[in-house]
Amino acid sequence: MTTQQVTSPFMRLFGRYLRDQGLPVTHQRQAVAEVVIGSDAHLSVDDIERELRVSGERIGKATIYRTLDLLVRSHLVEEHDFGEGFKRYEHRFSDHPVHEHLICLECGTVTEFESHELYGVENRVRAEHGFTPVRRRLEIYGLCKTCHDAGVELPVEGLTCPIETI
Ligand SMILES: [Zn+2]
Ligand SMILES: [Zn+2]
Repeated sequence: MTTQQVTSPFMRLFGRYLRDQGLPVTHQRQAVAEVVIGSDAHLSVDDIERELRVSGERIGKATIYRTLDLLVRSHLVEEHDFGEGFKRYEHRFSDHPVHEHLICLECGTVTEFESHELYGVENRVRAEHGFTPVRRRLEIYGLCKTCHDAGVELPVEGLTCPIETI
């Protein structure tokens, strides 16, 4: 599948959203949207700014932030906060729109995985609590294989046993 085939329906939807909101479909908004849809990664604003610069676009961070806000509100893009002090963005047109995330605390790599077990958890929640799940989010933090194989060791989180430290 070429990028163009993926991009155009997304851009049409984004254009429609902007027009519905009474906002102009500007070149800058389109350029930011194309970077996000053209990537399967979980992009930070810095990543997006870098991508734009590589393709010869000079678009300020404020415009990128405002465009991302519109993309999130249009539900075409999902926003993540993995506790790094900045947000990450991914489009919702991947082959696996429902997926969970593994976040490496050492290098920040984000890996996606699918968990069929979570459907079972949702069914149990429905039965036990009469609660109807709509969406969910599972993030597992730790060490990726590359960092692990490189010998990185994570500091122990939280309190250590006081008896051991005395
Ligand atoms: Zn890592
Ligand atoms: Zn993801």
